Amino acid sequence: MSDTPTQLFIGGAWVDAADGATMPVDDPATGEILCHVADAGAKDAKLAEEAAVQAQEGWARTAPRVRSEILRRAYEIIVERTDELAHLMTAEMGKPLVEARGEGAYAAEFFRWFSEEAVRIDGGFGTLPDGRNRMLLSRRPVGPCLLITPWNFPLAMGTRKIGPAVAAGCTMVLKPAPQTPLSSLALAAILKEAGLPDGVLNVVTTSRAGEVCEPLLRGGRIRKLSFTGSTAVGQLLLAQSAEAVVRTSMELGGNAPFIVFEDADLDKAVDGAMIAKMRNMGEACTAANRFFVHRSVAEEFGRRLAERMGALVVGPGTRDGVDVGPLIDRTGRGKVEVLVADAVERGARVLVGGRTPEGPGCFYPPTVLTDVSPESRLMDTEIFGPVAAILTFDDEDEVIRRANDTPWGLVGYVFTQGLDRALRVSERLEVGMVGLNTGLVSNPAAPFGGVKQSGLGREGGRVGIDEFLEYQYLAVPVR
Ligand code: NAP
Repeated sequence: MSDTPTQLFIGGAWVDAADGATMPVDDPATGEILCHVADAGAKDAKLAEEAAVQAQEGWARTAPRVRSEILRRAYEIIVERTDELAHLMTAEMGKPLVEARGEGAYAAEFFRWFSEEAVRIDGGFGTLPDGRNRMLLSRRPVGPCLLITPWNFPLAMGTRKIGPAVAAGCTMVLKPAPQTPLSSLALAAILKEAGLPDGVLNVVTTSRAGEVCEPLLRGGRIRKLSFTGSTAVGQLLLAQSAEAVVRTSMELGGNAPFIVFEDADLDKAVDGAMIAKMRNMGEACTAANRFFVHRSVAEEFGRRLAERMGALVVGPGTRDGVDVGPLIDRTGRGKVEVLVADAVERGARVLVGGRTPEGPGCFYPPTVLTDVSPESRLMDTEIFGPVAAILTFDDEDEVIRRANDTPWGLVGYVFTQGLDRALRVSERLEVGMVGLNTGLVSNPAAPFGGVKQSGLGREGGRVGIDEFLEYQYLAVPVR
């Protein structure tokens, strides 16, 4: 970690904040300060924006093959250094090393995928229906982008945005979450090493998000916002983007239903639940938030899930054999404690966990609650922690209605062995993604995103690059 950059990355150079400000980066496993990084203000943001604006024209003209090969090289570097990057992520975010390595591989894949997409940007040619005009369609980069990322997947949320932006020929200013700036700075260093020209990517680490981002969104030079984070902040940024009519992609919060029918393979359902709930300690937008289990199998499912959850080892992410690291900070853990206490007050039974351990760090034990009341606050709040809340249902129509009874619609999980039912239920769920007999949907080759208040647009897949491209139509008369 000693050679990880801690300054801002602007115009290809590492620089301090204009006012010299720095901010601490904490280790959530101990509460101790790992290091300090530059804390950008409005002036630094303007410099980063200027660098992106200046680089835009040249970058848009750069051959797709060149853009592609830079991404390919960056992919290779991440793969070579996965272990080093995993240690960095674990240090600043807390996830166990095994999960951090998994994130390294996942993050690298976005660069490989978009290196392949960069050379496949297509256009079109045709004759208009009147026969008097030809139509030429070309795709162009949307222009300088503002990318805002959360702390839960510090590397992958960066590559999932930078990959398509680079491939499309856009320049950018990246503002990572203040809890996890180091992974983004390491990413900038890797892209520089891979040959990314100065000014194409600029990184501003800051504790002053509003001061840094709002002027850029309202200023008219940034043409695109790609945001991943909570719905509340997404709504604020959408309002700020309206003034200059900035194009937006929003990857927002979730409230995933996990539905287990009476004909499900319970072994598979419990395996799926462990992934859908416990990946990233439950700090994932895709985390199963509401377990709806058919009344006839609910007790057995709860018993098996509690056994598996209770066997997980909690501890610092760097320690061998640890399955569950600390939550991101005391605020995040406090929210989980309040939600569990509320559910218990309303009649939930704690099958395992549910008690905050003594000592330093932001640890919370894997917890299973059953007989959860539909009135509990965790039914309409992202838990963002290792807590599985089980409710029962009696029939298909009822469970679909309850699963859809939320403003969010990112992902849903369905466990059943009946093909007809699997398709019927999936089609009726108001979500952007469905895990059918699986607890994991994320893949760089698939379009990731939600409906309703879970977001706008998709990241990854064939369509991921479209978010960073505009059409231009040329009318050419037939003579
Ligand atoms: P958050 O509080 O919304 O923050 C996300 C990012 O937005 C951070 O970088 C944050 O910086 C920044 N931000 C906050 N206020 C801002 C403002 N006024 N102007 C500009 N930037 C601002 O979310 P989080 O707690 O970091 O992440 C958890 C949330 O992200 C959950 O809701 C989760 O579901 C969602 N998420 C969604 C996806 C998806 O793909 N759909 C993926 C991962 C996470 P500051 O912390 O400095 O304010």
